[in-house]
Amino acid sequence: MEEYLLVTKDLTKVYKDITAADRVNIHIKRGSIYGLIGKNGAGKTTIMKMIAGLAKPTSGSFEYTGFNCSQTEAFSRIGALIEAPAIEPNLTGYDNMRIKCLAYGIGDKQYINDLLDLVGLSGKWKKKAGKYSLGQKQRLGIALALVGDPDFLILDEPINGLDPQGIAEVREMLNKLNQERKITILISSHILEELSKLATDYAIIDSGRIIEESTNKELREKCRDKIAIKTADVAKALPVIDGLGFKDYSVVNDKTIHVFDKLSEITVLNMELAKAQIPVESIGIESSDLEEYFLKVTGTIPGERV
Ligand code: ATP
Repeated sequence: MEEYLLVTKDLTKVYKDITAADRVNIHIKRGSIYGLIGKNGAGKTTIMKMIAGLAKPTSGSFEYTGFNCSQTEAFSRIGALIEAPAIEPNLTGYDNMRIKCLAYGIGDKQYINDLLDLVGLSGKWKKKAGKYSLGQKQRLGIALALVGDPDFLILDEPINGLDPQGIAEVREMLNKLNQERKITILISSHILEELSKLATDYAIIDSGRIIEESTNKELREKCRDKIAIKTADVAKALPVIDGLGFKDYSVVNDKTIHVFDKLSEITVLNMELAKAQIPVESIGIESSDLEEYFLKVTGTIPGERV
């Protein structure tokens, strides 16, 4: 079995003078919940539209490696809810579902009831969809996207505008779809904290570019409290750190080391580095919650990109 369901290669979309997606490379593992995080206008919808087959890339490509079928056939294995759900307000939830099911050649009433049950709308299906709350509309939109039993669900900001209770319900439902129906999910949001409760992998996008792609574990690691050392000589600093008995540290790049244990011993560490004549540009305790981290990497908080 292929590890990845979808891989994009330099996927680009230019609208007149705006590059909405700029050489995007993302790797979505089969069975994952992949979060696309970015501020409004960052390019999330554009990427989703391209991979759902709703917009043509200007350049670059993408491949559904896990479907074992052609790209065109792969599109039929995808359910998408992009921008507002296509709901007919004067029809009941059930009838909205019936129309979509008929287009898929599905005439089974139980199929519709099962999907409405799955998204928590059982009992609501007699009500006109125009009278649904925002959360109920989103859930109906997800039920519509599930018609045809897709392997891959693309959801554009499905929790946008929902109250905390509504967010929790959608989150629980998506977890269930992922765990029980084994559906791989691509979900976008501008709230990292919220997505972090659900996503297994992430891409942070800003001005059309992917700034970083990471697993949930890696992201949480980056947000842990740590001693951050900036030095021009990482190689020389490491034996000093080892010598002081620090065990949990990582080299972030050729100028930065993060040390996660014994934070209270920062002064000793600083003194020992100075003694060993290692040029330390800066040393300090860093802590950031997920949202701060997101703002930092997207350059919203003034200062250096991490
Ligand atoms: P939002 O959450 O606000 O929808 P987003 O991250 O989904 O943001 P996109 O909708 O993909 O961002 O938009 C990315 C950029 O491309 C924006 O500057 C937007 O104005 C522009 N854009 C999107 N669609 C079009 C279009 N059809 N024609 C021209 N420009 C567009």
